[in-house]
Amino acid sequence: MISFDDTRIAFADKTTAELKKARWLFVLVKNPGLVKVGSVLLNVANKIRFPLRWMLKSTVFKHFCGGETIEECKTTLDKFSDSGIKAVLDYAAEGAESEKDFDEARDRILATIELSRTNSNIGFAVFKFTGIARFALLEKYGTDETLSQKELDEYERIKKRADDICAAARDAGIPVMIDAEETWIQDAVDEIVENLMEKYNKESHVVYHTLQMYRIDKLYYLKKITEHARIKGYMPAFKLVRGAYMEKERERAQKMSYASPIHPDKNATDGAFNDAVRYCLENIGNIALCVGTHNEISCQLAVEYMEEKGLKPAHDKIYFSQLMGMSDHITYNLAKADYNVSKYLPYGPIRLVMPYLIRRAEENTSVAGQTGRELYLIKKELRRRKDEKIIG
Ligand SMILES: Cc1cc2nc3c(=O)[nH]c(=O)nc-3n(C[C@H](O)[C@H](O)[C@H](O)COP(=O)(O)OP(=O)(O)OC[C@H]3O[C@@H](n4cnc5c(N)ncnc54)[C@H](O)[C@@H]3O)c2cc1C
Repeated sequence: MISFDDTRIAFADKTTAELKKARWLFVLVKNPGLVKVGSVLLNVANKIRFPLRWMLKSTVFKHFCGGETIEECKTTLDKFSDSGIKAVLDYAAEGAESEKDFDEARDRILATIELSRTNSNIGFAVFKFTGIARFALLEKYGTDETLSQKELDEYERIKKRADDICAAARDAGIPVMIDAEETWIQDAVDEIVENLMEKYNKESHVVYHTLQMYRIDKLYYLKKITEHARIKGYMPAFKLVRGAYMEKERERAQKMSYASPIHPDKNATDGAFNDAVRYCLENIGNIALCVGTHNEISCQLAVEYMEEKGLKPAHDKIYFSQLMGMSDHITYNLAKADYNVSKYLPYGPIRLVMPYLIRRAEENTSVAGQTGRELYLIKKELRRRKDEKIIG
């Protein structure tokens, strides 16, 4: 059994001032009403370009992001490295709509990959399709509607951007994770990612597909792709997550009168997630796995399955991963126990990273227990530091 309770390890690289700020932040996001109103206000302020930098940069942004540029992420990168944690530098700008923005996002991802050649603290590259593609086009591709020639050309450019990123990752010897998004664009994304895995994962695990286990169909999909990979002679790699768009998915399904693609309750999602972890570990070697979660029980179970199967903690095909600013107690305690751990380190101009920040705030509100746990551990560590000073 691994313990995640050692707050001395969990918050070793946090100053007391930083912990106090985090405590303040988690107290605020615990309040659903405040987060709802705050999200709406932030969205509006962002749209009308109300200057928000001064308010956000040293608070929410600092907690969940590494900086506005790769250079600004350097301090966090070094801190991660001191604790044996690999960074997943994530250009988290969202909502781009123009070809120029998409090319720029691709170039930033390529720059991260280039940097990984000289900075071994960068464990993975990562991107999401809505950073390099127009949402509406991905959505249309997944329907029965026929794409015009202009749209087909645009679609080819999307595939080319993704291919350029994967080719660069292969050449630099760094794996690349591709995030999963809303179901109504995910069919298009799945198809492209499957082709990329088939192309680039012949000799090593270059491309990691993301599976959202809150989706009813994804356990079956995991097995289907693994079998497809066996037949086609490539090695699948998966990042498993529960899924970040639950409310949105349910609202849309209800509004448009189709069955919700999401498991009916948290238990069912948890079960599917843990089953998927077990399945990947049973097929490890052929499959490479990244367990992307802040859930302590899922991490415990993964550790137990690994022990059961005689897989060593630092197995090179097994990674655990959390997001910056969340569940440091899991990240740092796993790293201390010699497991491979990576941490998403989002960066980008504040205005463009705003949707990501709002999602994190909403997630910390909607997830029962998560914020409470985070807050409890922060308070525990602050108390420990205070007591030790008194004793000392
Ligand atoms: C490294 C990393 C990468 C990520 N990448 C992605 C990504 O590419 N795409 C993406 O969508 N998300 C991604 N996420 C976010 C992730 O999907 C979750 O939103 C987040 O991690 C919270 O889930 P959890 O596993 O940490 O556990 P928990 O906090 O235990 O679970 C919360 C999750 O359970 C599910 N859930 C909650 N209530 C219910 C319910 N009533 N019925 C059914 N299901 C429910 C939801 O998915 C919710 O987010 C990533 C997370 C991490 C740590």
